[in-house]
Amino acid sequence: MLIRIESVGKTYQLGVQTVTALRDVSLNIEEGAFIAISGPSGSGKSTLLNIIGLIDTPTSGRLLIDDHDVTGRPPEVLAHLRARAIGFVFQTFNLLPVLTAEENVEFPLLQFRELSTKQRRERVAQLLDLVKLSDHARHRPNQLSGGQRQRVAIARALAIGPRVVLADEPTANLDHRTGGRILRLMRRINRKYGTTFIFSTHDPRVLEIADRRVDIEDGTIVRFGVRTGETWSYAAERPASDRDDSRDDLK
Ligand code: ADP
Ligand code: MG
Repeated sequence: MLIRIESVGKTYQLGVQTVTALRDVSLNIEEGAFIAISGPSGSGKSTLLNIIGLIDTPTSGRLLIDDHDVTGRPPEVLAHLRARAIGFVFQTFNLLPVLTAEENVEFPLLQFRELSTKQRRERVAQLLDLVKLSDHARHRPNQLSGGQRQRVAIARALAIGPRVVLADEPTANLDHRTGGRILRLMRRINRKYGTTFIFSTHDPRVLEIADRRVDIEDGTIVRFGVRTGETWSYAAERPASDRDDSRDDLK
């Protein structure tokens, strides 16, 4: 299993107040999935993605990546893992404004000492071609539309050849049509390269393109959905195929 989340809880301390962002969240995500985390604002979507992305750590429970327990590993180990395995796409694109599109895509590759400049440039050119922005390579973010910026961000996320791309409300700042195009682009990449995509949304229309969904409310998973054709089948619990039968602490 690529990602296993086991009974994860997350609380934040705000002065004397304890805010519960996640409670008892368990979820398995297999390699190649294209999965939406759906829920209203404040339900815990970003917290969950940040925990999967090793940006934040759970207060309780465990996170396993490739069946390795990464809970409680030192920050530098997590940073190394993150830099080589996880790509991020954000609601606000988060491109570096002084860099051109191609420089933004190249940026995460600079840490790979084993790549020559030529190899790096070739990879950037391939990625810009993949997101159909080869003719905008020298443009800076402020010379690009929202949809184009998000395509640069997708190319950047893919640059390291990640196992998983995490996209936190990737279409929230785009109009519906552009958002639809961005999701279909992610879907094509998912099918073509088998890259796992996990994205969050509070827009029901965005869900049209997912094949699995996890609905979250008040920090807890309320149902799991699997697409069958045009409709969703729901389970309040994880599907049996998704459960770990070796766990005996659930009796
Ligand atoms: P969503 O992404 O679904 O809008 P979040 O994961 O951002 O939800 O937030 C879930 C809950 O946790 C909210 O009540 C939010 O206010 C709280 N929260 C998130 N991050 C922090 C933080 N750094 N400090 C305190 N509370 C936080
Ligand atoms: Mg959020």
